[in-house]
Amino acid sequence: MSSHDLFMHEALSLAKRAAASGEVPVGAVVVLNGEIVGRGHNQPISSVDPTAHAEIVALRDAAQRVGNYRLTGATLYVTVEPCVMCAGACVHARIEELVFGAADDKAGAVVSRAQILDVPAWNHRVRVTGGVLAAEARELMQAFFQTRRGEGYRSGRTGLDSKSSWG
Ligand SMILES: [Zn+2]
Repeated sequence: MSSHDLFMHEALSLAKRAAASGEVPVGAVVVLNGEIVGRGHNQPISSVDPTAHAEIVALRDAAQRVGNYRLTGATLYVTVEPCVMCAGACVHARIEELVFGAADDKAGAVVSRAQILDVPAWNHRVRVTGGVLAAEARELMQAFFQTRRGEGYRSGRTGLDSKSSWG
C-alpha cells in the first residue's frame, strides 16, 4: 500500500465518523514528516459552525499540535475535493501538498468548479494530487445522500440541497 493510500484510509475512517453523527461524510488528516499531526471530520451541524469542514478542523488540530499556524512541508489528505474556503486555507497554512479523493462537481474549487490553487497571484503554490481512493470516498458520499433522501430529509440542516453532486 502506498503512503498516499495509507493516509487516505485514515481520512476515510474519519469520514465514516462524520456520517455516523449525521454529517456529510468527509474526513481529513494532516501529515508532517511521515506522521499524522492533525485529524478532522466534517462537523458544521454539530459544531454550529459553517467553517467546520474536515480540512479546517484537521488544519486547526495540526497547527495546535505543531505550535505553528504555518504547516510548511505538510500534506493535507481529504476524501473529497476541497471547497473554495478549504482550498484557500491550504494556501494560508502553507500546505506543501494536497491529496484528495473524489472530485466534487458542484462545490470543488481545486479542479472542478474553480481552480483556486492555480491562481498565479498567490504567494504560495500547493502541489495537488487527486483521485486517491476516489471510489471509496464517492461511495461514502453517495450512500449518505441516498439514505438521507430515502428518509425524506430536505432541510439545510442535513447538508442536503436539491442539486447535490452525490445523488
Ligand atoms: Zn471546505
